[in-house]
Amino acid sequence: MREVIAAHGLSASKALGQNFLFDEQLLSRIAAIPGDLSGRNVLEIGPGPGGLTRALLRAGANVTAIEMDRRCLPALAELGEAFPGQLTVIEGDALKIDHDAIFNGEPYAILSNLPYNVGTALFTRWMGGEEWPPNWTSLTLMFQQEVAQRIVAQPGGSAYGRLAVLAQWRATAKLAMKVHRSAFTPPPKVMSAIVHVEPATMPEGVSAAKLEQATAAAFGQRRKMLRQSLKGVPGALDALEALHIEPTRRAETLDIGEFVELARFLTASS
Ligand code: SAM
Repeated sequence: MREVIAAHGLSASKALGQNFLFDEQLLSRIAAIPGDLSGRNVLEIGPGPGGLTRALLRAGANVTAIEMDRRCLPALAELGEAFPGQLTVIEGDALKIDHDAIFNGEPYAILSNLPYNVGTALFTRWMGGEEWPPNWTSLTLMFQQEVAQRIVAQPGGSAYGRLAVLAQWRATAKLAMKVHRSAFTPPPKVMSAIVHVEPATMPEGVSAAKLEQATAAAFGQRRKMLRQSLKGVPGALDALEALHIEPTRRAETLDIGEFVELARFLTASS
């Protein structure tokens, strides 16, 4: 990969959040996280010069990669030639593209090593919406470690919040691998970790929008008691009473099951 970078004169762009991975063993281990990819559709966001892409192609996946830095396209085209018929590259901003449409409704796995802000925005989009299960079968995503810990967090700690509820109320979220900052070129300031998410059954009678409204309000004032933080959510105080949830509790003490119950009550009474 270092040779590819040198041959194509690719210097990492800070503005595009480029921190590249070159270690082939590490990249193969990442590509193995979703299980056997042979013959499966994979969406990779931000392939850069193609380190992870190559590992995915070697694993036998049919990869569609979205990259917004056109400097990377020649290197990706060479990779495509080495794996005929397996790689499609789309030049563009992954935030502006309809991912389901790429695969014509067929299932696909998503893998990505993305800049922090884009990763969180895409994650929120993939995990949101009323339709469930989604067309994607798994998300395998690199985040800065602190964000990864917020995604897999359990109730009771400061890491537990909206991201944890969003990630876990109808999916399983695991911390699959920690990645040391020195594995990247150039090394970022912070440690990274890969989160692996698979869709689970969506609880019945719960609107995702209501759940989002309740968690946003509750964690928006996380130090306040629920009777205060949920004041602005119509029906929420009645829901606490009906569900025997003490209004003096704080958001971070409610487990995901309790948030789901709260959202179900709000859904039924709206
Ligand atoms: N996957 C490569 C690797 O692991 O070595 C590159 C990772 S680098 C952290 C992130 C890549 O995402 C860069 O190549 C960058 O140009 C690309 N990128 C950043 N924002 C993007 C966006 N909105 N849509 C598509 N690609 C994006």
